[in-house]
Amino acid sequence: MTEPHEAAEELEAREPSETQNPSSWRQGEPTPQDVATAYHEAGHAAMSLMLRRPIERVSIEPNQVRLGQCKLRKSVHGPLKDAVETEILILLGGLGAEARHTGAYDWDAASEDMRNVRRLLEMRAANDRAMKRTESRLLDKAEHLLDAPGMWSAIERIAAELLRYGSVSGRGVRHIFEQAIRLGKKRGE
Ligand SMILES: [Zn+2]
Repeated sequence: MTEPHEAAEELEAREPSETQNPSSWRQGEPTPQDVATAYHEAGHAAMSLMLRRPIERVSIEPNQVRLGQCKLRKSVHGPLKDAVETEILILLGGLGAEARHTGAYDWDAASEDMRNVRRLLEMRAANDRAMKRTESRLLDKAEHLLDAPGMWSAIERIAAELLRYGSVSGRGVRHIFEQAIRLGKKRGE
């Protein structure tokens, strides 16, 4: 087990050296949109790890399809019902984390996530009303999970790394996440 101070040193070791340009992925100060996207993707990433779904990489570097992305590793375990709920919670984690930072839900930025949420809900819900009800229950649950000890500090730190480097490896994200959760539990946040 790693001591917290050792972990902090490891984080410091990841500071950019003189030969690295920390903003090489994009010039200049991040825009409010960059920051919102960073919180959105950090929300997906931290929610995945909290629900024990490993991730390969998180990025806010724009591509043709979307603003950023959080790439999950394939994993199939647990009963199907839980797997569907887990996937929905990870999808809602982006919307929830972004809203907690900006103060408002950005349904447009999350439109692809919400399409996927509804596609998953259709597998379970009997009708539109039941679907809406389940969607709102799971959004509450996702937001409740954002309150878990250390969770918000994990998201803030992942978002900061994304704004600095553009993307972070799954290993890097897990390191930040585990350290933040450990500290959060210790402090009883
Ligand atoms: Zn998303």
